[in-house]
Amino acid sequence: MGNRDDKKYSMKNIALLGSTGSIGTQTLDVVSQFPGSFKVTGLAAGSNIQLLKQQVSKFHPKEISVKDEGDAAILQKDFKKDNLKVYFGDEGIVRVATNPRVETVAVATSGLAGIKPTLAAIRAHKTVALATKEVLVSAGSVVITEIKKKKVKLLPIDSEHSAIFQCLEGKSTQEIATIYLTCSGGPFRTKTFKELKNVKASQALKHPTWNMGKKITIDSATLMNKGFEIIEAMWLFKVPLAKIKVIVHPQSVIHSAVEFVDGSIIAQLGPADMRLPIQHALFYPHERRPNNFKRFRFSDYPALSFEELDLDKFPCLALAYQAARLGGTCCAVLTAANDVAVEAFLKDELSFYGIPRVIETTLAKHRNKKRPKIEEILESDLWARKTAGQLVKISGRGFGRR
Ligand code: MG
Repeated sequence: MGNRDDKKYSMKNIALLGSTGSIGTQTLDVVSQFPGSFKVTGLAAGSNIQLLKQQVSKFHPKEISVKDEGDAAILQKDFKKDNLKVYFGDEGIVRVATNPRVETVAVATSGLAGIKPTLAAIRAHKTVALATKEVLVSAGSVVITEIKKKKVKLLPIDSEHSAIFQCLEGKSTQEIATIYLTCSGGPFRTKTFKELKNVKASQALKHPTWNMGKKITIDSATLMNKGFEIIEAMWLFKVPLAKIKVIVHPQSVIHSAVEFVDGSIIAQLGPADMRLPIQHALFYPHERRPNNFKRFRFSDYPALSFEELDLDKFPCLALAYQAARLGGTCCAVLTAANDVAVEAFLKDELSFYGIPRVIETTLAKHRNKKRPKIEEILESDLWARKTAGQLVKISGRGFGRR
């Protein structure tokens, strides 16, 4: 139900890319809490047409886009009387993202598919609320250059980056001493190196705190997810890598923290509910508003603990730092090789430590392009997928057993 003072600000028009995914559906959940504040103007999805149809019936967007032409034709027929415009493919998602009515584009597509529409949205002067990690990890240099050029706002939808963003409100970059990205440690935090050598994907697929998909669960187990977040933080908050540290915090109550130059630390905490960072990004720069989400109770967490990371146990994190230092197209290679390796691990074609071995070898074979164009980033992504795929095939399950 909406709040009584919903009308205080004019309606914000939102385009949501990736509406049928986990972040997409949670974004619509936030929108429906504040019907007087947000209007969904456009939705873009892949091929979950059933869910998209429900979303169209509930939120009445003016236009939508799907992956395939065939699906678009069916939807066009189904919603004929509603005057809904239905697009498809790369061009369609860009149209949804750049509609003149739209103020904020929420990007929650999966993977690299988010890059082109994000750049198009920035060029069309939209505020971008970004959930898709690959957009900044693979193409951070291009995206940030464009953000600066067009002077548009980039708002993070990720628990850690939203936390840092909130800690930094009203502060300048010069005041930052260290950004502490908190990390649950993943499902394998307490396992030894020896145990991890033979660990199976099924053992990772029960993540303690956040409800996530298979790919991201493995990324949490290898800590590559945290590696990606380091790279995202570097771009978002314009700080050198040396100022970004990871601290293991198994309870995941503190979503991240910033230490300032005077030694004072501001941390952000709250329930593990992605709708909070989403709400913060959608309302920004306006004030906080009450919602009906479950509240945090301090007494539920009598003890919070913190540990240093064991980089030897989780080499993926070191690889992320390495790719970030090398810059250029290396981070695109990092994400693409990781995608392939994780996929193989999930199919039991690669061991746990085979994942970093595949990534490391792919990175070593890569000819880095400094200051890449977006096309070169996409080319590097394809090259890395092919190369990593070959490495998986050649070495199979034995690969990475050192
Ligand atoms: Mg996160």
